[in-house]
Amino acid sequence: MAYNPFLNFCQVLDRAADIVGMKASDYEILKHPERELKVALPIRMDDGRLEVFEGYRVQHSSQRGPCKGGVRYHPDVNIDEVKALAAWMTFKCAIVNIPYGGGKGGIKVDPAKLSTAELERLTRRYTAQILPVIGPQQDIPAPDVGTNAQTMDWMMDTYSMMKGHAVPGVVTGKHIEVGGSLGRTEATGRGIMIITRLAAESRQLSRPTVAIQGAGNVGSISAKLISEKLGYTVVALSDVSGGVYCESGLNIPEILAFVSKKQFLKDYSAPGVTHVSNEQLLTLNADILIPAALENQITADIAAKTGAKMIIEAANGPTSADADEILARRGITVYPDILSNAGGVVVSYFEWAQNLQSLYWEEDDVNRMLEKVMVRSYNDVKKTSEEHGVSLRLGAYITALKRLTGAAKLRGIFP
Ligand code: GLU
Repeated sequence: MAYNPFLNFCQVLDRAADIVGMKASDYEILKHPERELKVALPIRMDDGRLEVFEGYRVQHSSQRGPCKGGVRYHPDVNIDEVKALAAWMTFKCAIVNIPYGGGKGGIKVDPAKLSTAELERLTRRYTAQILPVIGPQQDIPAPDVGTNAQTMDWMMDTYSMMKGHAVPGVVTGKHIEVGGSLGRTEATGRGIMIITRLAAESRQLSRPTVAIQGAGNVGSISAKLISEKLGYTVVALSDVSGGVYCESGLNIPEILAFVSKKQFLKDYSAPGVTHVSNEQLLTLNADILIPAALENQITADIAAKTGAKMIIEAANGPTSADADEILARRGITVYPDILSNAGGVVVSYFEWAQNLQSLYWEEDDVNRMLEKVMVRSYNDVKKTSEEHGVSLRLGAYITALKRLTGAAKLRGIFP
């Protein structure tokens, strides 16, 4: 059967509920997104042709606050993926204890194949189509795979034009000039760095080796901060074209400068650097493996072969359910996505709070508060997993599940 990330989410949810003896009726609602919207997006292409794209916005839960989550532009976007990504946002926001539910959106498109003008028209049409269900108190989009600050600026502008006044709080991850927060671009990578440090300390590794899959925003900033701030040795990094490896450590500033010029790693060369396939990167003997690309990368086969001691999930849903079991049996600790990559949404929350108050913070303050939230959340998840003698993933799900069902119980059921 084809991989269905939403079913994967439901399975883990059932296991977490079972461990704490929760009745099915207490959490059944979490298997049903509150709202699923599908939109058709007719776009006039630069050559005059009309093309119709498919878009989605799923609001999984608003029990703990407005829905929150990114918008993905990728050719594989489909409803089951968006549902899973939305549900993971609900759990992520509950783990870091910020007052949001979860949502996610996406357009089935390869953004690399569109011109800037086409992307702008697509983004504006998408915003117009989902406009009735988004808003600073309702649902707040942000960047995800294939989107960035410019995408958010266009969404903010479109929404504001339709409302008749500037509404910066409708999206997060904007450029600073239009109400973005200092520290937001680096936030997911910074969160990954913090969890990587805590993970290494828990095994008394002072200078671990690290392999990173993915050189997008999260992969590249993680690589930068882990090598620069922690002094760990990043031995491997990959992009869609393949990976590069150097036993004594890659020159990360040089590689990131190379990648930022839209060049592919398959064309990178330096003394001592060899080229590796995606599978080789994932199965290397590095102490820490950081998947920072897409879902379902660490399959059962990879899990059986990997030489990593720990996995820090920077992507959403990179590990399949059967791989998780194999990793647990092999004593490889997995730091789950909904904890590890939460830095992005935490600083999104700071951005939104700044927008609502029209009061802007210093970068140092943003970073310090992010550190505090990440460390607190890590301790909460660790404590829960130790209490129940389960993996950190289940510990994370249980932590979130308790907060979510607690809120639902207090609110009751309308009508
Ligand atoms: N797309 C990011 C995530 O998956 C950030 C979401 C947000 O900031 O709302 O966590």
